[in-house]
Amino acid sequence: MPSPTPIWDAHSCLPLRPDMPLAVLERHRAAGAVFVSVNVGMDMTPITDILKVLAAWRRQIEQASDRFVLAHTLADVETAASSGRLAVAFDLEGGLPLADQPEMIGLYHRLGVRQMHLAYNRSNTICGGCHDEDMGLTELGQRVVAEINRVGILMDCSHTGELSSLQIMAVSARPVIFSHANPRALVDHPRNVSDAQIDACAATGGVIGINGVGLFLGLPESAVARPADMAEHIAYVVDRVGPRHVGIGLDYAYDTETAEDMAGMEVDTAYWWPPGNGYDFGVLTFAPPEVLAGLAEELARRGYGDDDIAGVLGGNFRRVAAEVWR
Ligand SMILES: [Zn+2]
Repeated sequence: MPSPTPIWDAHSCLPLRPDMPLAVLERHRAAGAVFVSVNVGMDMTPITDILKVLAAWRRQIEQASDRFVLAHTLADVETAASSGRLAVAFDLEGGLPLADQPEMIGLYHRLGVRQMHLAYNRSNTICGGCHDEDMGLTELGQRVVAEINRVGILMDCSHTGELSSLQIMAVSARPVIFSHANPRALVDHPRNVSDAQIDACAATGGVIGINGVGLFLGLPESAVARPADMAEHIAYVVDRVGPRHVGIGLDYAYDTETAEDMAGMEVDTAYWWPPGNGYDFGVLTFAPPEVLAGLAEELARRGYGDDDIAGVLGGNFRRVAAEVWR
């Protein structure tokens, strides 16, 4: 029997608390992941909280070096894979933690951030959010894109407004990803991406990561996504732009029942997750890491070849990381 395909999960979440035990990520490793990117802050997270989480989580990963590897480079991911460990890197969901200063990107990079959005649902000084009036990429936004390109961080347009994302993809010198976003043609939700966004992403050489959030997969309330549900969305993007531009960004939220759990603090839920878009943290479902273990078989059942399956489950994001990370 061939060895299982190494899985690259482009985005999952932990409650943003320094004392959140990262040992829970063992479930990702057990399900076949060699890499996971976890967010360390969103646009509503104060910078001090982001730094506290980064400091504490970096230390936790170092202390559990028998199971985890802090991924600064692709070589770190290879090291993790060859020793049966899980490589972990960090992402920022939004550009507000830059405090309008693009030089902050290099600082976050040094702290382990390898992927970032420019906005989180709402518009900010950099660009428009997917749940807001989208005024496009600002002058500051242009400088932020250039700096993300220069520093070598994965530019991620999930949660970004459609117009802004198209402008970002037009000016980015490097491939752009949607780490966790599903096709809007299948489920008409503002967090999902249009055909134009999918086409533009592929044209940059980027990858769209399909997530396991029931709301974005169009599942009935309280249904938890199975491999077949995610495969449906994978198939749509594969049919549109080919198997090299699809990946997995599970968006599993560990230990999260409320928006406060997720944000790690009191937060204006109605502002960041506008009501009317189906956000109810008591009802939202997230496919667990264990779903990853069944994806290869599901894709094989649908007739995908081994190379395409390996690309979708990990190889495609790995290719883009190789191009972008330094
Ligand atoms: Zn997200």
